[in-house]
Amino acid sequence: METPAVLASFNGVTQPLASVRVSPLDRAYLFGDAVYEVIRVYAGRPFRLERHLDRLRASLAALAIPHDIAVTRERLAALLAVSAVREGSVYLQISRGEAKRTHVPAPGMQPNELMWLEPLPVDFGAAKRAAGVTVALCPDLRWGLCRAKTTNLLGNVVAGLAAQDQGATEALLYDESGRVTEGMHSTFFAVDAGRLVTTPLGANVLPGITREVVLEIARALGIETVERSVARGELPAMQELFFTGTLSEIQPIVAVDGTAVGDGRPGPLARRLQERFVLRVSAECAS
Ligand code: PLP
Repeated sequence: METPAVLASFNGVTQPLASVRVSPLDRAYLFGDAVYEVIRVYAGRPFRLERHLDRLRASLAALAIPHDIAVTRERLAALLAVSAVREGSVYLQISRGEAKRTHVPAPGMQPNELMWLEPLPVDFGAAKRAAGVTVALCPDLRWGLCRAKTTNLLGNVVAGLAAQDQGATEALLYDESGRVTEGMHSTFFAVDAGRLVTTPLGANVLPGITREVVLEIARALGIETVERSVARGELPAMQELFFTGTLSEIQPIVAVDGTAVGDGRPGPLARRLQERFVLRVSAECAS
């Protein structure tokens, strides 16, 4: 059977992703001058859409790219309406637009907005969530605007390649003071004496939407939550470690630099949160 074409919308024109053409002068291509979002679609509905759009608005503001989010919301709804995809993910990118190559852009540029909806298997990521992933500690080489979701992901890519070289699945980033920041595409959580710990929001991490959901679930379960940085030296003393993210959901970390976390298997709190996360998704995205 032929794979159906992935459907895209480029500046509001719906078309197969493969037929979208973007100019080499687009500033996303030349400068990484663009912001993006990844939104999970469950049962045909985008999960926590408004929070993703709020973050998109904040990312656009951080780069001073003028764009009306109401237009994005309408185009996304139109894309979802014409697509048959029920389980999938939306990649949405807004660049400053295309212009003669100068560092400081001319005023009045027209942003380019691209989004596509990719199908995912119903059990997407389930194997990794069940078995957990291994990480390599890597220096966080990124810049001072990590709170904005920009397409400047080279620091994340370099860390991912280094982790792969070391035989690990994912990179766990730490800053110059030895504090863990986040994963290359996910938020970091630890379990410390029964309390759930995660990096506080600031310039050095992305405010994860899944992070919000997990903190909500934990609080509803009466689990104490603490927003503080974890030093890399503290990692061996933690009972559990896990990542959260739109596509990974809740992904246990079972080894750091080859040393097992706890008994080397996904921990009980991560598994409990995974179960609750699934319930939350079905409550919000029921068909
Ligand atoms: N941190 C980084 C660097 C990310 O790229 C992502 C997601 O892509 C996250 C954290 C998790 O954010 P969210 O839960 O909104 O997907």
